Amino acid sequence: MSRHETLDPRDSRGWQELRQLGASMLTDVFEHLRTLREQPAWRPMPTEVQRQIQEQPLPERGQPLEAIYQEFKRNILPYGGGNLHPRFWGWVMGNGTPAGVLAEMLSAGLNANSWGGSHAALEIESLVISWCRQLMGFPETASGLLTSGCSLANLIGLAAARGRLQSGRVGVHGLRGLQSTPVAYVSTETHNSVEKAVDLLGIGRDNLRKVPVDDAFRMDPAALLEQIERDIADGFLPMAVVATVGTVATGAIDPLREIAAVCREHGVWLHIDGAFGALAILDPQRKSLLEGLELADSLAFDFHKWLSVPYEAACILVKNPEDHARTFASKTPYLSSTQGGPGAGSTWFCDLGPELSRGFRALKVWMTLREHGTQKFGRLIRQNINQAQLLASKIAKHQELELLAPVSLNLVCFRYRGDTSTSESELRQINQQALLELQQSGVAVPSHTQLHGKFAIRAAFVNHRTRDEDVELMLSAFLQACRRQQNKHHAA
Ligand SMILES: *Cc1c(COP(=O)(O)O)cnc(C)c1O
Repeated sequence: MSRHETLDPRDSRGWQELRQLGASMLTDVFEHLRTLREQPAWRPMPTEVQRQIQEQPLPERGQPLEAIYQEFKRNILPYGGGNLHPRFWGWVMGNGTPAGVLAEMLSAGLNANSWGGSHAALEIESLVISWCRQLMGFPETASGLLTSGCSLANLIGLAAARGRLQSGRVGVHGLRGLQSTPVAYVSTETHNSVEKAVDLLGIGRDNLRKVPVDDAFRMDPAALLEQIERDIADGFLPMAVVATVGTVATGAIDPLREIAAVCREHGVWLHIDGAFGALAILDPQRKSLLEGLELADSLAFDFHKWLSVPYEAACILVKNPEDHARTFASKTPYLSSTQGGPGAGSTWFCDLGPELSRGFRALKVWMTLREHGTQKFGRLIRQNINQAQLLASKIAKHQELELLAPVSLNLVCFRYRGDTSTSESELRQINQQALLELQQSGVAVPSHTQLHGKFAIRAAFVNHRTRDEDVELMLSAFLQACRRQQNKHHAA
């Protein structure tokens, strides 16, 4: 045995024990996934468990992995966010896949750093990006990068838009070199990651114009045009429009072709946030809804939502590769490419985003797509959209319930409306309380939003584990909770 210390097991017996423990971990994780339906959709972490976790001191000495794993099973595994469960429809959360667990294990086993150089992880990332271009109707010359999420993908898309200002010199001189103040355009429904992005890019939240939406929560292209023209007249510099495919509150799809025409007319960058919605392109019946996606200068979307790839994985595509590289490429002697060896290669992903070290997230995307194929994902996406329509039709037919937004894709916003004597503020309380009761009971987890000043229950279907009967189960539990709350209010 060597006198040196290492983090690997010390001898073959140590390796053997590790293998056994690893095998039982896999068994337990798969058993957890197999039995999800028998578990609550969510359960609160007991304060005692919270305390046990928070009071742990910084470990000065190690302890056996086996003991730590027992603690994981006891204190961590049961208290997930719920998003694995068949009846979890809160926010827009991915469910992962069993094989995704294995992909994550394999990529951790390689511990590849996907910044640049010459190795297999980069080949797989290039391939996945080329598949994405094909899927989204982008030209072969377009550039792309896998990111942690759509928030970062939106930031990169808008950074590329900003980089084009001042004939591409804004990154050198900064915004102060500009003659006029750049402004960006979103709708009132745009995801708040865009607001963070314009802040980080120095554009400023005050210079983010919120264009009004129509009755179906889609950006109004005429209002966009008017706002751009007003800004030009006032001496502002329109920099980018962000259109959304699948808004976070209601799943609305902005009119892409009309917005693209406005952008073209005024030479404004079009960024599309397609976090979950862009993947609807896989459903042949929905493809026409997404016409115009290919007109974007940059397109951001997630793999960890509707493609069920384990967190985290998303993609940014930029049509003009120079626009993409301008902001992020920066050659330094210690990161320059060699003729051969591990430092060779032409694809340097660190030149396409803010991060140098990056994990091998392309592996799980590649494996997930290879295992199931795009056709099956198209069918699963259609299954979810049909479930949203099923829920909507049940609500529309029900006396005590009302829809609060049209169902454009896979999101349903609704509420209990009680009887005519129930006031708006009572309705808000009843719906809030009933939602909480539903979530805490572990039956199902929708989330909430606010629409036209009303508190809305919101169910987002991106869940490959959901069955049609789950919709009915949630609805009847919600109604019972509402009636209980309503009676409390009448009694009070
Ligand atoms: C989820 C979402 C985002 C943010 O994506 P992350 O992957 O969570 O960073 C952005 N836009 C929309 C429309 C989303 O639904």
